[in-house]
Amino acid sequence: MGIKVAKFGGSSVADGIQLTKTKAIIEQDPDRRYIVVSAPGKRYEGDNKITDLLYLCKTHIEHNLPYDQIFQVVADRYMAVEINLGVKADLLKYFDEIRENLKKNPSSDYIASRGEYLNAVLVAAFLGYDFVDTADLIKFDAKGKLLMEETDEAIRAELSKHERAVLPGFYGSTPDGEIKTFSRGGSDITGSLVARAVGADVYENWTDVSGFLMADPRIVKNPKQIGKISYKELRELSYMGASVLHEDAIYPARMADVPINIRNTNKPEDPGTLITAEGDGNDEHIITGIAGSKDFTVVALYKNMMSSERGFVRRILGILDDYDINFEHLPSGIDTVSVVMANEQINGRLDEVLEEFQSRLRPDTIDVIEDISLIATVGHGMSSRTGTSAKLFNALAEAGINIRMIDQGSSEMNIIVGVENKDFEKAIRAIYDAFVE
Ligand code: ASP
Repeated sequence: MGIKVAKFGGSSVADGIQLTKTKAIIEQDPDRRYIVVSAPGKRYEGDNKITDLLYLCKTHIEHNLPYDQIFQVVADRYMAVEINLGVKADLLKYFDEIRENLKKNPSSDYIASRGEYLNAVLVAAFLGYDFVDTADLIKFDAKGKLLMEETDEAIRAELSKHERAVLPGFYGSTPDGEIKTFSRGGSDITGSLVARAVGADVYENWTDVSGFLMADPRIVKNPKQIGKISYKELRELSYMGASVLHEDAIYPARMADVPINIRNTNKPEDPGTLITAEGDGNDEHIITGIAGSKDFTVVALYKNMMSSERGFVRRILGILDDYDINFEHLPSGIDTVSVVMANEQINGRLDEVLEEFQSRLRPDTIDVIEDISLIATVGHGMSSRTGTSAKLFNALAEAGINIRMIDQGSSEMNIIVGVENKDFEKAIRAIYDAFVE
């Protein structure tokens, strides 16, 4: 028998109807032995996510405002499922325990984690699987950094005792036993850690879309779906803004060479997107996907004989370090270097940073280009083809778009162009049409 780890996101476990679909999916393949669940998400537009309601409880507690009604709304949602599906999970006992703890003003991580905790108890009873709490398995250090290896060992040791189990996503604990959560959407990471630990054949991530699309559907009409993508390609794309999978969820699975399959709970017959080490080498389209993000600033520094001046780039990096700014790209020429930074990194301090550049680098000129968007066109297929960049630049030229910056990763897997914010959508459409349509 194989092992599949299946993680179900908030929308897949939002209510009795969704949980019935989830159960059918799990029962359809006996290899689906380890199930990771999020807290119940939205059932319809405008509905509340359980996690948001729990954070709201915490805010009320902090302001000495009554929170019982909010917690009651949370409890009622689980109760409705327990009753509708006829599950015997004895939830009242768990609610009482949480209510007691709420009186002691616990951390917001503890409160938020109860969404996943209660849901895993409920789903385990619904499926007839064991409930295994992740609090003692997912280990963080005192500063809140995930301890990968300790976590891996703890999960493996515990799950070797369970043929089938449901685990709550999103949280673990620190050495003093305090609950600690990942950032939002972090149940994806739990699933990946479990998949790594048990050496799963595949990590299935069940959500409400059938995987990744080649471009943002708000910009490109009916973009094609990505059938296969490599971990590396996905990093290039997710880092630019794709949002189906938490970006930290890639690493653990990747370490153990476990493919990740994004699947749609509402369309289980769709094969979804498969993320593997090699990817597709997508012959059909050359490129795998296009993603981008707005609001960057480019600071171009020019200095005669810069190339023979030692330590110039080191000093740039030193200044960025002093301001705690992560740069995005650093394209360079013989006597020029440009620093590309997200506006949110600069955080209103552009003038100060420019003054530092001026006094510590003594460049001949500094040019600043604001309101730039970066667009990454990604695909393994690009490196082996001649004319890929010509095609991309032609497409942009024909659409009348001025390219303000170009950067190509040394893997030749991506070409990044900087265009003005106003051209962002148009540029993505032009690239998509040139390569896909
Ligand atoms: N429930 C958490 C959130 O809403 C974690 C998750 O669903 O992955 O962010």
